[in-house]
Amino acid sequence: MSAEDGRDGGGRADGEDADPAGGDPDGGLAVRRLADWDADRLRELATAHGTPLYVTDIDRVAENCGRLLDAFPDARVSYAVKANTGRAVLETVREAGLDAECASAGEVRRALDAGFPGDRVDYTAVNPPARDLDSVVEWWGDHPDLTVTVGARDTLDRLAERGFDGRVRVRVNPGVGAGHHEKVRTGAAPKFGVPYDRAAEFVAAARDRVDVVGLHAHAGSGIHGEEDLAAHRDLVARMGDLAREVGDLAFVNVGGGFGVPYREDEPPLDLDAVAAATREALGDVDADLAVEPGRYVVADASVLLTRVNTVKPTPETTVAGVDAGMTDLLRPAMYDAYHAIRNLDASEDGGEAGDADDGRGVGPVTVAGPICETGDTFCDGRELPIPERGDLLAVGNAGAYGYEMASTYNSRPRPAEVSLDGDVLRERETLAGVTRLERGGADE
Ligand SMILES: *Cc1c(COP(=O)(O)O)cnc(C)c1O
Repeated sequence: MSAEDGRDGGGRADGEDADPAGGDPDGGLAVRRLADWDADRLRELATAHGTPLYVTDIDRVAENCGRLLDAFPDARVSYAVKANTGRAVLETVREAGLDAECASAGEVRRALDAGFPGDRVDYTAVNPPARDLDSVVEWWGDHPDLTVTVGARDTLDRLAERGFDGRVRVRVNPGVGAGHHEKVRTGAAPKFGVPYDRAAEFVAAARDRVDVVGLHAHAGSGIHGEEDLAAHRDLVARMGDLAREVGDLAFVNVGGGFGVPYREDEPPLDLDAVAAATREALGDVDADLAVEPGRYVVADASVLLTRVNTVKPTPETTVAGVDAGMTDLLRPAMYDAYHAIRNLDASEDGGEAGDADDGRGVGPVTVAGPICETGDTFCDGRELPIPERGDLLAVGNAGAYGYEMASTYNSRPRPAEVSLDGDVLRERETLAGVTRLERGGADE
Protein backbone atom coordinates (compact mmCIF):
# COMPACT_ATOMS: atom_id res chain seq x y z
CA MET A 1 0.00 0.00 0.00
CA SER A 2 1.15 3.47 -0.65
CA ALA A 3 1.53 5.87 2.19
CA GLU A 4 0.26 8.90 0.29
CA ASP A 5 -2.12 10.58 2.61
CA GLY A 6 -5.15 10.58 0.38
CA ARG A 7 -3.52 12.90 -2.09
CA ASP A 8 -5.72 13.25 -5.07
CA GLY A 9 -4.93 11.90 -8.53
CA GLY A 10 -2.96 14.29 -10.70
CA GLY A 11 -1.90 16.48 -7.79
CA ARG A 12 1.65 17.69 -7.82
CA ALA A 13 3.75 17.30 -4.75
CA ASP A 14 4.87 20.91 -4.70
CA GLY A 15 5.68 22.10 -1.24
CA GLU A 16 5.51 18.70 0.38
CA ASP A 17 8.64 18.28 2.42
CA ALA A 18 8.38 14.75 3.73
CA ASP A 19 7.22 12.79 0.75
CA PRO A 20 6.74 9.16 1.72
CA ALA A 21 6.73 7.93 -1.85
CA GLY A 22 10.03 9.61 -2.66
CA GLY A 23 8.82 12.31 -5.00
CA ASP A 24 10.46 15.57 -5.83
CA PRO A 25 9.04 19.02 -6.51
CA ASP A 26 9.32 18.86 -10.30
CA GLY A 27 8.19 15.37 -10.94
CA GLY A 28 5.54 14.64 -8.35
CA LEU A 29 5.42 11.37 -6.50
CA ALA A 30 7.83 8.64 -7.54
CA VAL A 31 4.88 6.32 -7.81
CA ARG A 32 1.18 6.76 -8.29
CA ARG A 33 -0.76 3.87 -6.81
CA LEU A 34 -4.16 2.65 -7.89
CA ALA A 35 -5.51 3.74 -4.48
CA ASP A 36 -4.53 7.34 -5.28
CA TRP A 37 -7.02 7.70 -8.13
CA ASP A 38 -10.19 9.59 -7.28
CA ALA A 39 -12.94 6.95 -7.25
CA ASP A 40 -15.77 9.43 -7.78
CA ARG A 41 -14.10 10.85 -10.86
CA LEU A 42 -13.51 7.40 -12.32
CA ARG A 43 -17.13 6.42 -11.67
CA GLU A 44 -18.33 9.57 -13.45
CA LEU A 45 -16.16 8.83 -16.46
CA ALA A 46 -17.37 5.23 -16.65
CA THR A 47 -20.97 6.41 -16.53
CA ALA A 48 -20.39 9.03 -19.20
CA HIS A 49 -18.33 6.94 -21.61
CA GLY A 50 -19.15 3.30 -20.84
CA THR A 51 -16.78 0.45 -20.18
CA PRO A 52 -14.25 -0.96 -20.84
CA LEU A 53 -12.58 2.42 -20.71
CA TYR A 54 -8.98 3.58 -20.48
CA VAL A 55 -8.58 6.73 -18.40
CA THR A 56 -5.29 8.59 -18.85
CA ASP A 57 -4.02 11.37 -16.61
CA ILE A 58 -1.97 13.54 -18.94
CA ASP A 59 -0.53 15.53 -16.02
CA ARG A 60 0.95 12.34 -14.65
CA VAL A 61 2.72 11.73 -17.98
CA ALA A 62 4.30 15.18 -17.66
CA GLU A 63 5.34 14.44 -14.07
CA ASN A 64 7.01 11.20 -15.06
CA CYS A 65 8.92 13.02 -17.82
CA GLY A 66 9.97 15.62 -15.26
CA ARG A 67 11.39 13.02 -12.90
CA LEU A 68 13.38 11.40 -15.71
CA LEU A 69 14.86 14.71 -16.81
CA ASP A 70 15.77 15.51 -13.19
CA ALA A 71 17.52 12.18 -12.73
CA PHE A 72 19.40 12.39 -16.06
CA PRO A 73 20.06 16.13 -16.34
CA ASP A 74 22.76 16.01 -19.01
CA ALA A 75 21.60 12.95 -20.91
CA ARG A 76 19.41 12.73 -23.94
CA VAL A 77 16.12 11.21 -22.76
CA SER A 78 13.78 9.72 -25.35
CA TYR A 79 10.36 8.22 -24.91
CA ALA A 80 9.91 4.75 -26.42
CA VAL A 81 6.70 5.60 -28.21
CA LYS A 82 5.43 2.04 -28.52
CA ALA A 83 4.37 2.01 -24.86
CA ASN A 84 1.54 4.44 -25.68
CA THR A 85 1.26 6.26 -29.01
CA GLY A 86 -1.75 8.39 -28.11
CA ARG A 87 -1.55 11.86 -29.63
CA ALA A 88 -2.07 13.64 -26.31
CA VAL A 89 0.68 11.56 -24.72
CA LEU A 90 3.11 12.28 -27.56
CA GLU A 91 2.44 16.02 -27.44
CA THR A 92 2.88 16.07 -23.67
CA VAL A 93 6.16 14.18 -23.89
CA ARG A 94 7.43 16.50 -26.61
CA GLU A 95 6.54 19.59 -24.62
CA ALA A 96 8.23 18.11 -21.56
CA GLY A 97 11.44 17.90 -23.57
CA LEU A 98 11.89 14.19 -24.27
CA ASP A 99 12.73 12.89 -27.75
CA ALA A 100 10.90 10.06 -29.52
CA GLU A 101 12.16 6.52 -30.12
CA CYS A 102 10.01 4.76 -32.72
CA ALA A 103 9.72 1.07 -33.54
CA SER A 104 8.02 1.34 -36.93
CA ALA A 105 7.32 3.75 -39.76
CA GLY A 106 3.86 4.24 -38.32
CA GLU A 107 5.32 5.41 -35.03
CA VAL A 108 7.74 7.72 -36.84
CA ARG A 109 4.78 9.27 -38.66
CA ARG A 110 2.89 9.73 -35.41
CA ALA A 111 5.90 11.35 -33.74
CA LEU A 112 6.39 13.77 -36.66
CA ASP A 113 2.66 14.54 -36.69
CA ALA A 114 2.77 15.22 -32.96
CA GLY A 115 5.35 17.91 -33.68
CA PHE A 116 8.66 16.22 -32.89
CA PRO A 117 11.31 17.73 -35.18
CA GLY A 118 13.38 15.21 -37.13
CA ASP A 119 16.45 15.64 -34.94
CA ARG A 120 14.40 14.39 -31.99
CA VAL A 121 13.19 11.23 -33.71
CA ASP A 122 14.95 7.85 -33.80
CA TYR A 123 13.64 5.01 -35.87
CA THR A 124 14.77 1.64 -34.50
CA ALA A 125 14.71 -0.62 -37.55
CA VAL A 126 14.46 -4.24 -36.38
CA ASN A 127 14.05 -6.44 -39.48
CA PRO A 128 12.32 -3.47 -41.08
CA PRO A 129 9.64 -4.30 -43.63
CA ALA A 130 10.36 -2.78 -47.07
CA ARG A 131 7.31 -0.57 -46.77
CA ASP A 132 8.61 0.91 -43.52
CA LEU A 133 12.02 1.66 -45.03
CA ASP A 134 10.42 3.24 -48.11
CA SER A 135 8.34 5.55 -45.93
CA VAL A 136 11.04 6.51 -43.46
CA VAL A 137 13.59 7.25 -46.20
CA GLU A 138 10.98 9.39 -47.96
CA TRP A 139 10.27 11.37 -44.77
CA TRP A 140 14.00 11.64 -44.12
CA GLY A 141 14.03 13.83 -47.24
CA ASP A 142 12.05 16.43 -45.31
CA HIS A 143 13.66 15.65 -41.95
CA PRO A 144 17.35 15.04 -42.73
CA ASP A 145 18.30 14.91 -39.03
CA LEU A 146 16.19 11.86 -38.36
CA THR A 147 18.23 8.92 -37.02
CA VAL A 148 17.85 5.29 -38.03
CA THR A 149 19.01 2.54 -35.69
CA VAL A 150 20.55 -0.37 -37.55
CA GLY A 151 21.30 -3.81 -36.15
CA ALA A 152 22.28 -5.78 -39.26
CA ARG A 153 24.37 -5.36 -42.42
CA ASP A 154 21.32 -6.10 -44.53
CA THR A 155 19.54 -3.09 -43.09
CA LEU A 156 22.43 -0.81 -44.09
CA ASP A 157 22.38 -2.30 -47.60
CA ARG A 158 18.64 -1.82 -47.89
CA LEU A 159 18.92 1.78 -46.70
CA ALA A 160 21.71 2.41 -49.25
CA GLU A 161 19.52 0.96 -52.03
CA ARG A 162 17.02 3.68 -51.18
CA GLY A 163 19.65 6.41 -51.23
CA PHE A 164 19.88 6.90 -47.49
CA ASP A 165 23.23 8.16 -46.20
CA GLY A 166 22.04 10.00 -43.09
CA ARG A 167 22.40 9.60 -39.36
CA VAL A 168 22.63 6.07 -38.01
CA ARG A 169 23.05 4.60 -34.61
CA VAL A 170 24.33 1.07 -34.45
CA ARG A 171 22.37 -1.34 -32.30
CA VAL A 172 24.65 -3.66 -30.41
CA ASN A 173 23.69 -6.94 -28.83
CA PRO A 174 25.49 -6.68 -25.52
CA GLY A 175 24.83 -10.31 -24.58
CA VAL A 176 23.21 -9.13 -21.36
CA GLY A 177 19.49 -9.23 -20.71
CA ALA A 178 17.17 -7.98 -18.00
CA GLY A 179 13.45 -7.93 -17.47
CA HIS A 180 10.37 -9.15 -15.75
CA HIS A 181 9.70 -12.06 -18.12
CA GLU A 182 11.77 -13.98 -20.64
CA LYS A 183 9.65 -12.56 -23.48
CA VAL A 184 10.79 -9.03 -22.69
CA ARG A 185 14.53 -9.70 -22.25
CA THR A 186 15.99 -8.38 -25.45
CA GLY A 187 19.60 -7.66 -24.55
CA ALA A 188 20.86 -11.15 -25.21
CA ALA A 189 18.38 -12.32 -27.86
CA PRO A 190 20.17 -12.84 -31.20
CA LYS A 191 17.25 -11.13 -32.94
CA PHE A 192 18.41 -7.72 -31.74
CA GLY A 193 21.56 -5.91 -32.76
CA VAL A 194 25.05 -6.65 -34.01
CA PRO A 195 26.91 -9.20 -31.86
CA TYR A 196 29.08 -7.32 -29.40
CA ASP A 197 32.35 -8.82 -30.64
CA ARG A 198 31.68 -7.69 -34.20
CA ALA A 199 30.32 -4.26 -33.33
CA ALA A 200 33.56 -2.24 -33.68
CA GLU A 201 34.21 -3.72 -37.10
CA PHE A 202 30.58 -3.08 -38.07
CA VAL A 203 30.83 0.57 -37.03
CA ALA A 204 34.06 1.04 -38.99
CA ALA A 205 32.51 -0.40 -42.16
CA ALA A 206 29.27 1.54 -41.68
CA ARG A 207 31.18 4.82 -41.48
CA ASP A 208 32.02 4.58 -45.19
CA ARG A 209 28.33 4.68 -46.05
CA VAL A 210 26.44 6.61 -43.38
CA ASP A 211 26.96 9.08 -40.54
CA VAL A 212 27.34 6.91 -37.43
CA VAL A 213 26.26 9.20 -34.60
CA GLY A 214 25.68 6.76 -31.81
CA LEU A 215 25.65 3.32 -30.29
CA HIS A 216 22.53 1.75 -28.92
CA ALA A 217 21.58 -1.21 -26.75
CA HIS A 218 18.43 -2.12 -24.86
CA ALA A 219 18.51 -4.88 -22.27
CA GLY A 220 14.81 -5.48 -21.86
CA SER A 221 11.85 -4.33 -19.89
CA GLY A 222 11.58 -4.00 -16.16
CA ILE A 223 14.83 -3.02 -14.41
CA HIS A 224 13.69 -3.15 -10.85
CA GLY A 225 15.54 -5.31 -8.38
CA GLU A 226 19.25 -5.48 -7.62
CA GLU A 227 19.76 -8.33 -10.08
CA ASP A 228 18.36 -6.32 -12.96
CA LEU A 229 20.41 -3.33 -11.95
CA ALA A 230 23.56 -5.47 -12.00
CA ALA A 231 22.66 -6.64 -15.52
CA HIS A 232 22.01 -3.03 -16.53
CA ARG A 233 25.39 -2.02 -15.14
CA ASP A 234 27.11 -4.79 -17.15
CA LEU A 235 25.40 -3.65 -20.30
CA VAL A 236 26.32 -0.01 -19.76
CA ALA A 237 29.95 -0.89 -18.94
CA ARG A 238 30.25 -2.90 -22.13
CA MET A 239 28.77 -0.02 -24.12
CA GLY A 240 31.25 2.36 -22.48
CA ASP A 241 34.15 0.12 -23.53
CA LEU A 242 32.86 -0.08 -27.07
CA ALA A 243 32.31 3.68 -27.28
CA ARG A 244 35.92 4.31 -26.23
CA GLU A 245 37.10 1.79 -28.81
CA VAL A 246 35.22 3.24 -31.79
CA GLY A 247 35.39 6.92 -30.73
CA ASP A 248 33.82 9.92 -32.46
CA LEU A 249 30.20 9.51 -31.36
CA ALA A 250 27.52 11.99 -30.37
CA PHE A 251 25.81 9.66 -27.91
CA VAL A 252 25.70 6.24 -26.34
CA ASN A 253 22.16 5.03 -25.79
CA VAL A 254 21.75 2.35 -23.15
CA GLY A 255 18.05 1.76 -23.72
CA GLY A 256 14.99 1.82 -21.52
CA GLY A 257 13.47 -0.80 -19.31
CA PHE A 258 13.08 1.29 -16.15
CA GLY A 259 10.67 -0.66 -14.00
CA VAL A 260 7.50 0.48 -12.32
CA PRO A 261 5.97 -1.18 -9.25
CA TYR A 262 2.95 -3.14 -10.44
CA ARG A 263 2.36 -4.59 -6.96
CA GLU A 264 0.99 -2.24 -4.36
CA ASP A 265 3.67 -3.16 -1.83
CA GLU A 266 6.62 -2.87 -4.22
CA PRO A 267 8.79 0.18 -3.68
CA PRO A 268 9.24 2.59 -6.57
CA LEU A 269 12.37 2.44 -8.68
CA ASP A 270 15.12 4.61 -7.25
CA LEU A 271 15.73 6.58 -10.42
CA ASP A 272 18.63 8.52 -8.95
CA ALA A 273 20.37 5.27 -8.03
CA VAL A 274 19.84 3.94 -11.56
CA ALA A 275 21.19 7.19 -12.99
CA ALA A 276 24.25 7.11 -10.71
CA ALA A 277 24.94 3.45 -11.52
CA THR A 278 24.56 4.19 -15.23
CA ARG A 279 27.02 7.10 -15.15
CA GLU A 280 29.54 5.15 -13.13
CA ALA A 281 29.33 2.07 -15.32
CA LEU A 282 29.63 4.08 -18.53
CA GLY A 283 32.86 5.68 -17.36
CA ASP A 284 34.53 8.45 -19.27
CA VAL A 285 33.24 8.67 -22.82
CA ASP A 286 33.46 11.53 -25.24
CA ALA A 287 29.74 11.33 -26.06
CA ASP A 288 26.44 12.08 -24.37
CA LEU A 289 24.60 9.43 -22.45
CA ALA A 290 21.14 8.64 -23.82
CA VAL A 291 18.29 6.59 -22.36
CA GLU A 292 14.89 5.70 -23.81
CA PRO A 293 12.31 4.49 -21.32
CA GLY A 294 8.76 3.75 -22.44
CA ARG A 295 6.90 2.08 -19.61
CA TYR A 296 8.19 4.47 -16.96
CA VAL A 297 6.67 7.46 -18.74
CA VAL A 298 3.13 6.17 -19.06
CA ALA A 299 2.45 3.05 -16.95
CA ASP A 300 0.94 4.70 -13.89
CA ALA A 301 -0.77 7.44 -15.91
CA SER A 302 -3.70 5.21 -16.94
CA VAL A 303 -6.20 2.81 -15.47
CA LEU A 304 -8.57 0.47 -17.27
CA LEU A 305 -12.15 0.60 -16.00
CA THR A 306 -14.34 -2.46 -16.38
CA ARG A 307 -17.80 -3.40 -15.13
CA VAL A 308 -18.72 -6.67 -13.39
CA ASN A 309 -21.51 -8.40 -15.32
CA THR A 310 -21.51 -11.88 -13.78
CA VAL A 311 -20.76 -13.08 -10.27
CA LYS A 312 -20.28 -16.81 -9.86
CA PRO A 313 -19.42 -18.38 -6.52
CA THR A 314 -17.33 -21.55 -6.87
CA PRO A 315 -15.73 -23.68 -4.16
CA GLU A 316 -12.27 -22.07 -4.62
CA THR A 317 -12.99 -18.53 -5.71
CA THR A 318 -15.68 -16.05 -6.63
CA VAL A 319 -15.50 -15.46 -10.35
CA ALA A 320 -16.15 -11.85 -11.30
CA GLY A 321 -16.98 -11.80 -15.00
CA VAL A 322 -16.13 -8.38 -16.43
CA ASP A 323 -16.59 -6.61 -19.75
CA ALA A 324 -12.86 -6.10 -20.41
CA GLY A 325 -10.63 -8.94 -21.47
CA MET A 326 -7.24 -9.82 -22.87
CA THR A 327 -8.25 -7.99 -26.04
CA ASP A 328 -8.29 -4.74 -24.03
CA LEU A 329 -5.30 -5.42 -21.77
CA LEU A 330 -3.10 -8.30 -22.89
CA ARG A 331 -0.30 -8.17 -20.34
CA PRO A 332 -1.71 -10.59 -17.76
CA ALA A 333 -2.46 -13.22 -20.44
CA MET A 334 0.78 -12.68 -22.36
CA TYR A 335 3.34 -12.14 -19.60
CA ASP A 336 1.51 -13.35 -16.48
CA ALA A 337 1.77 -9.69 -15.53
CA TYR A 338 0.38 -8.60 -12.19
CA HIS A 339 -1.95 -5.58 -12.24
CA ALA A 340 -3.53 -4.16 -9.09
CA ILE A 341 -7.33 -4.27 -9.13
CA ARG A 342 -9.57 -2.03 -7.09
CA ASN A 343 -13.31 -2.34 -6.66
CA LEU A 344 -14.49 1.25 -6.86
CA ASP A 345 -17.91 0.36 -5.47
CA ALA A 346 -16.92 -1.94 -2.65
CA SER A 347 -16.35 0.53 0.13
CA GLU A 348 -17.02 4.11 0.98
CA ASP A 349 -13.39 5.21 0.85
CA GLY A 350 -12.69 3.23 -2.30
CA GLY A 351 -10.13 1.33 -0.30
CA GLU A 352 -8.54 -1.95 -1.13
CA ALA A 353 -9.27 -5.46 -0.11
CA GLY A 354 -9.38 -5.48 3.67
CA ASP A 355 -10.83 -2.00 3.91
CA ALA A 356 -14.26 -3.01 2.77
CA ASP A 357 -16.60 -1.65 5.37
CA ASP A 358 -19.85 -2.30 3.60
CA GLY A 359 -20.40 -5.76 5.00
CA ARG A 360 -19.75 -7.72 1.86
CA GLY A 361 -16.44 -9.12 3.09
CA VAL A 362 -13.25 -10.08 1.37
CA GLY A 363 -12.27 -13.36 -0.24
CA PRO A 364 -10.49 -14.96 -3.16
CA VAL A 365 -11.76 -13.41 -6.40
CA THR A 366 -10.94 -14.32 -10.00
CA VAL A 367 -11.53 -11.48 -12.40
CA ALA A 368 -12.22 -12.99 -15.81
CA GLY A 369 -12.93 -11.45 -19.20
CA PRO A 370 -15.37 -12.50 -21.94
CA ILE A 371 -12.84 -14.04 -24.33
CA CYS A 372 -12.87 -17.79 -25.03
CA GLU A 373 -9.35 -18.37 -23.69
CA THR A 374 -8.36 -19.79 -20.32
CA GLY A 375 -5.67 -17.13 -20.04
CA ASP A 376 -8.27 -14.37 -20.19
CA THR A 377 -8.17 -13.46 -16.51
CA PHE A 378 -6.80 -10.37 -14.79
CA CYS A 379 -6.21 -12.20 -11.52
CA ASP A 380 -6.85 -15.65 -10.05
CA GLY A 381 -8.05 -16.09 -6.51
CA ARG A 382 -6.81 -12.71 -5.32
CA GLU A 383 -8.07 -11.34 -1.98
CA LEU A 384 -10.56 -8.66 -3.00
CA PRO A 385 -13.94 -7.40 -1.78
CA ILE A 386 -16.58 -9.92 -2.84
CA PRO A 387 -17.94 -8.42 -6.08
CA GLU A 388 -21.54 -7.65 -6.93
CA ARG A 389 -23.04 -7.38 -10.38
CA GLY A 390 -22.65 -3.81 -11.62
CA ASP A 391 -19.51 -3.04 -9.60
CA LEU A 392 -16.91 -0.91 -11.33
CA LEU A 393 -13.36 -2.25 -11.17
CA ALA A 394 -10.19 -0.31 -11.93
CA VAL A 395 -7.11 -2.12 -13.21
CA GLY A 396 -3.98 -0.19 -12.33
CA ASN A 397 -0.82 0.70 -14.26
CA ALA A 398 -2.57 0.18 -17.58
CA GLY A 399 -0.87 3.05 -19.40
CA ALA A 400 2.07 1.16 -20.86
CA TYR A 401 1.50 -1.57 -23.44
CA GLY A 402 -2.20 -1.48 -22.57
CA TYR A 403 -4.24 0.12 -25.32
CA GLU A 404 -1.27 -0.41 -27.63
CA MET A 405 -1.63 -4.17 -27.49
CA ALA A 406 -5.42 -4.15 -27.79
CA SER A 407 -6.84 -6.39 -30.49
CA THR A 408 -10.18 -7.25 -32.02
CA TYR A 409 -9.95 -11.00 -31.32
CA ASN A 410 -13.43 -12.53 -30.83
CA SER A 411 -14.71 -9.62 -32.99
CA ARG A 412 -14.49 -7.32 -30.00
CA PRO A 413 -14.20 -3.63 -30.86
CA ARG A 414 -11.35 -1.93 -29.06
CA PRO A 415 -12.15 0.16 -25.97
CA ALA A 416 -12.33 3.93 -25.72
CA GLU A 417 -9.73 6.10 -24.01
CA VAL A 418 -10.48 9.39 -22.26
CA SER A 419 -8.38 11.83 -20.32
CA LEU A 420 -8.98 12.34 -16.63
CA ASP A 421 -10.47 15.69 -17.66
CA GLY A 422 -13.04 13.86 -19.76
CA ASP A 423 -11.69 14.54 -23.26
CA VAL A 424 -12.09 11.62 -25.63
CA LEU A 425 -8.59 10.57 -26.67
CA ARG A 426 -9.61 7.51 -28.69
CA GLU A 427 -13.19 6.74 -29.57
CA ARG A 428 -14.65 3.35 -28.82
CA GLU A 429 -14.36 1.19 -31.90
CA THR A 430 -17.60 -0.05 -33.48
CA LEU A 431 -18.36 -3.45 -34.94
CA ALA A 432 -18.50 -1.75 -38.35
CA GLY A 433 -14.96 -0.57 -37.66
CA VAL A 434 -13.85 -4.12 -36.90
CA THR A 435 -15.35 -5.54 -40.12
CA ARG A 436 -14.61 -2.64 -42.45
CA LEU A 437 -11.74 -4.42 -44.22
CA GLU A 438 -13.75 -7.50 -45.03
CA ARG A 439 -14.69 -8.21 -48.66
CA GLY A 440 -16.83 -10.71 -50.54
CA GLY A 441 -19.95 -10.82 -48.37
CA ALA A 442 -23.35 -11.71 -49.79
CA ASP A 443 -24.46 -8.10 -49.78
CA GLU A 444 -21.65 -6.76 -51.98
C1 LIG B 1 10.56 -1.22 -25.97
C2 LIG B 1 11.83 -0.50 -26.10
C3 LIG B 1 12.20 0.47 -25.17
C4 LIG B 1 11.38 0.80 -23.94
O1 LIG B 1 11.25 -0.24 -23.05
P1 LIG B 1 10.48 0.04 -21.68
O2 LIG B 1 10.57 -1.24 -20.96
O3 LIG B 1 9.08 0.38 -22.03
O4 LIG B 1 11.17 1.15 -21.00
C5 LIG B 1 13.37 1.17 -25.38
N1 LIG B 1 14.15 0.91 -26.45
C6 LIG B 1 13.84 -0.03 -27.36
C7 LIG B 1 14.73 -0.25 -28.51
C8 LIG B 1 12.68 -0.77 -27.22
O5 LIG B 1 12.38 -1.69 -28.11
